[in-house]
Amino acid sequence: MERQNKTKFIFVTGGVCSGLGKGISSASIGAILKSANYKIFTLKLDPYLNIDPGTMSPYQHGEVYVTDDGTETDLDLGHYERFIDTNLSKLSNITTGQVYQSVLSEERKGKFLGKTIQIIPHITDRIKEHIYKAAIDSKTDILIIEIGGTVGDIEGEPFLEAARQIRIEQGYHQCLFAHVTLLPYIKASNETKTKPTQLSVKELLKRGITPDIIIARTETKVTKEAIEKISMFCNVKPEAVIPAPTVKIIYEVPVNFEKSGISKIIYKHLHLTHQKPNLNSWNKVLNKIKKIDKKVTIGLIGKYTENIDAYLSVNEALKSACYHHNLNLNLIWIDSVKLEKNDRSEINKLKKLDGLIVPGGFGSRGIEGKIKAAKYARENKVPYLGLCLGSQIMAIELARNVAKLKNANSEEFDPKAKNLIVHFLPGQSEDRKKGGTLRLGAYPCIVKKGTKAYQAYQTNKISERHRHRYEFNNDYQEILEKAGLIISGDSPDHNLMEIIEIKNHPFMLGSQFHPEFKSRPLRAHPLFLNFIKAADKYKNKK
Ligand code: GLN
Repeated sequence: MERQNKTKFIFVTGGVCSGLGKGISSASIGAILKSANYKIFTLKLDPYLNIDPGTMSPYQHGEVYVTDDGTETDLDLGHYERFIDTNLSKLSNITTGQVYQSVLSEERKGKFLGKTIQIIPHITDRIKEHIYKAAIDSKTDILIIEIGGTVGDIEGEPFLEAARQIRIEQGYHQCLFAHVTLLPYIKASNETKTKPTQLSVKELLKRGITPDIIIARTETKVTKEAIEKISMFCNVKPEAVIPAPTVKIIYEVPVNFEKSGISKIIYKHLHLTHQKPNLNSWNKVLNKIKKIDKKVTIGLIGKYTENIDAYLSVNEALKSACYHHNLNLNLIWIDSVKLEKNDRSEINKLKKLDGLIVPGGFGSRGIEGKIKAAKYARENKVPYLGLCLGSQIMAIELARNVAKLKNANSEEFDPKAKNLIVHFLPGQSEDRKKGGTLRLGAYPCIVKKGTKAYQAYQTNKISERHRHRYEFNNDYQEILEKAGLIISGDSPDHNLMEIIEIKNHPFMLGSQFHPEFKSRPLRAHPLFLNFIKAADKYKNKK
């Protein structure tokens, strides 16, 4: 297979078990190389059969991350965008389901001229085509490709085979394989074991792939002996074993990798001229965070409590905004279902909060609990940030309790409700960017001067990412404005309300879009920044 440009490829695989942080490892490698002025693009190969994670349960798969072009992707893309500070696209994520779907639809059209369709070469070729297309279209110097799952999983085989073939096609020094493994610690013998790593490298070797770097995840320290052992039995130089102890703050990962000399190994293997990575801004943030001694308490009202992955970007955006204001984030989970059932201890938790966040969500479970939380925030003037569903909740609460509109609801939760404050906008689905009825991806928004939103953004033209089916019902605009609603952002044609606020409240703002997707560790999102600022002010006044 031909490829025109000179992109270098870094494949990141995982061994021993899942959940080791391959995504963060890939993102950290990207951050390091980007800081050395290389152009970086990333691609996540997901071995599961779903077409995309759009319909997968957040319990199983964590949040669905949405890119500017409206692709519903894996949460690892969030890590990549945040760490590498780049905007990714539909080229950045493929699943086994997509690969099979595209090959099989061509088979139905007779494109294979009666040939037998096989995993090798047809599925593997399609994977390679996608990887090469991502390399060419993104015009990147280095393409980082994370292969999901663990080496040895049946689903992952075609991806590993495609990666092996790419190294043959492109040449040994065009491709680098970094393998992320686990060094378990055995308390009884006080030892960190390398055998699982050795065995997982053997699995890779069986598939014709020799790793060039081993990223050794551990809960303790990686000893010199362990490094030597891994080096000897896994066929890599000792300097190519990068210790990756668990860290408190994920921004430490790129800094630690570089301290262990990862860029030198990469440059040497890929025959790149050594441009020194500059991780000053990461170091600065880390030093700042280590000195923080104050905190702010934010309640996250949701139904997937204690599940950080389900609200990963929200949590990251909150943390970045807190760090900016020299605060630590004390996140309290509030179960909207318990709140709905008037659970005392859940209601009491509200009193401890300096700010409330109602994130995005689908389905009616826990909705009444979220409405109660919004009422509490409005009446007690506690800062509130509503993200997508959270903004719809805000409008419904105001409609019910201030405008006194009986039975106010969203079409999603009660299609027969008398006052549908939030509804499915007829005629809107045709021009939506992708199939289905969700409004997905980046849309422009005009921010009104003199509002809290304008104070945050300091500009009137913004673009933010959406992922929702329902919209505010403009028929209720006037009555809600009379009740104290401010429409502080809308679409350029003024048909879609995009940001709302509550009058005479220190900070109660909801956005129909998801600002969390565009927050970056070194550049926190303006809405999150001003929400945290308001929460801090509220805390100091309490
Ligand atoms: N369920 C709501 C809708 O579809 C909100 C979606 C979300 O919060 N992302 O409009």
